[in-house]
Amino acid sequence: MTAGGVERANGVLVAGNLVLDTVVIGVPESPPWNTSQWVESMEQHLGGNCGNTSHAIARLGVPARALAFAGRDAAGDRVTEILSAAGVDTSFMERTGMPTAASVALVRADGARCFLHCPGASLVAFLNAPEITPSLASGCAFFHLANPFGIPGLRSTAPEILRRARAAGLRTSLDAGWDSRGEWMKVFAPCLPLADVLFVNAEETRLLTGLEDENAAASALMDAGAACVVVKMGALGCMLRNSQGCWTIPGFAVTAVDTTGAGDCFAGGFLAAAAKGLPPLEAARFANAVGALSVQKPGSTAGLLSFEETLAWAAARSRP
Ligand code: ADP
Repeated sequence: MTAGGVERANGVLVAGNLVLDTVVIGVPESPPWNTSQWVESMEQHLGGNCGNTSHAIARLGVPARALAFAGRDAAGDRVTEILSAAGVDTSFMERTGMPTAASVALVRADGARCFLHCPGASLVAFLNAPEITPSLASGCAFFHLANPFGIPGLRSTAPEILRRARAAGLRTSLDAGWDSRGEWMKVFAPCLPLADVLFVNAEETRLLTGLEDENAAASALMDAGAACVVVKMGALGCMLRNSQGCWTIPGFAVTAVDTTGAGDCFAGGFLAAAAKGLPPLEAARFANAVGALSVQKPGSTAGLLSFEETLAWAAARSRP
């Protein structure tokens, strides 16, 4: 993008976990133990919140850089290769002596999923807040912290990382993710005043605020400091609340095959749209399209299209 002949930075620096996912489709509802079961498919995909979101942003034609940790193992080579092939800058990734984080996603016929996760390298990631140096931030206008609950170190360093990103002149966004330790607001509250955009799914919204109503919960998250709250609501679409008001943006009717990573792709879609200059409501609608494309194929990012193709896909499904 150019402004007056000068290259204007619109890239996204994405921090979070990187995972090699094995996605198993067609898992029986209650798999009987001590038996062997045949399933429909079993594929390896890039996963992790940083992996999925940075991949989605690059797929949508916006520069993306991963600030993430992988092992010095074959899985680490594989996730790095997949990200690089998608156009994500992996030159700031760190390789550690721990194994690359791995997940097995068990997906039922109705799209419901169960994750078995081994954190590996995530256990030594972000134990200290990294400096957001000029070279790390170069070409970027946005900093996205993808799920501070997914990496133990981020539970304490996330606010400082967001503060440093802001000090480096970047607009910040934060995706909540699931807190398996149940600490929720204890970890999250210090991050909220440092988030220009907060992404959170409906269940996380309730667990963070204790409020059943999404609208009231989004309002509480804004009172706690987030400038804009985007609640992801699965097939229903999303809700966006900022200082101007609150809107519900309906989702796209598709057949969900695998909902793994839909939220990460949604966040990537929103940020890519913002980077391309779309206003928040249009970015939210675009993000709904990216999320809907993601759930139609196994794995998080296999169903994604380019920016222009996504716009055309959404336009063809516009309600009259
Ligand atoms: P998360 O993966 O974080 O739990 P959601 O399940 O709400 O988040 O999915 C993120 C977004 O992806 C939704 O807000 C919606 O735009 C899109 N999406 C998810 N599931 C579906 C679906 N079944 N049909 C259409 N769009 C979907």
